[in-house]
Amino acid sequence: MSQYEQFASDNYSGVCPPAWKAMEAANRMDEAAYGEDSWTQRAADGIRGVFDTDCDVFFVFNGTAANSLALASIGQSFHSVICHELAHIETDECGGPEYASNGAKLLLGQGTDGKLTPQSIEHLVTKRTDIHYPKPKALSLTQATEVGTIYTPEELRAIRATADQYNLNIHMDGARFANAVAALDVHPSEITWKAGVDVLCFSGTKNGLALGEAVVFFNKHLAEDFEWRCKQAGQLASKMRFISAPWCGLLEGDVWLQNARHANACAERLANGLAGLPGITLRYPRQVNGVFVEMPDPVQAALRAKGWRFYNFIGGSARLMCSWATTTERVDQFLSDVRELMA
Ligand SMILES: *Cc1c(COP(=O)(O)O)cnc(C)c1O
Repeated sequence: MSQYEQFASDNYSGVCPPAWKAMEAANRMDEAAYGEDSWTQRAADGIRGVFDTDCDVFFVFNGTAANSLALASIGQSFHSVICHELAHIETDECGGPEYASNGAKLLLGQGTDGKLTPQSIEHLVTKRTDIHYPKPKALSLTQATEVGTIYTPEELRAIRATADQYNLNIHMDGARFANAVAALDVHPSEITWKAGVDVLCFSGTKNGLALGEAVVFFNKHLAEDFEWRCKQAGQLASKMRFISAPWCGLLEGDVWLQNARHANACAERLANGLAGLPGITLRYPRQVNGVFVEMPDPVQAALRAKGWRFYNFIGGSARLMCSWATTTERVDQFLSDVRELMA
């Protein structure tokens, strides 16, 4: 078995062919730098088309920067951002959001299956209102969540109602936004601006690019001077067309949705195969492209010895991620190995 027989992460995968082709096309001639090129215009227009609204779109290199800079644009250093305790901005960004905002604090909320609830948000906003407490200004939702679950449009609207009550802006970490759209089978607007999301970090990387995330401001006031923030943070690509052209490859013909549907379907096949095995339980409902599973430690060790790679991030359960590049053969091979080891 190749050492890359993995379910470790959707960012272990390579670049999907349509993105690669667009990158090659962008390499055929010189073009203006710093996002003044025709590809960047096309990609931003394409994203406005996807959301069916006139949003402001910026491209940055990675997700940590997208989240950190987007959150910094929402508030001041004395503000706070409410997020789930399992949120990537809390657990995996090395204090990036606090750094970019010169100190805005993250306030950690709870909720089952990695999802914030209106009650948890309300509790954090109302438990202190004095001047010694960083004033809540925003909340951050991850769609799909870190544990592979999704907020429904109804849940998002309920959260928006609470946010309205307390004057909070909503940031959405869309590292797996495409997977959520595919799973919910809704128009992308239904789970963003129509549900009151102010700014979305829309990931291309985990969907099939080499790199590149779009920061999409539905609330255009928040985008004021954002290009300067990007430049200062070292996130303004001079050859920006090599981020934006692959985005054109994803957007044309809805490749981004096809990639997400494929990844979700592979995870569904994997979850269905595992769920039927005695001694194995799913830790979270499988809703997008990740399967979180409790398996005996010796079985996990034996799978790794066979060359399979996967992580145990959350509470020790094995996290199995699928991507555009996952094959049903890989899924079936893994299932067959698990069955053999569990027998
Ligand atoms: C991968 C991921 C990101 C972005 O991570 P980078 O490594 O900085 O690109 C952000 N949020 C979530 C939930 C992620 O899974």
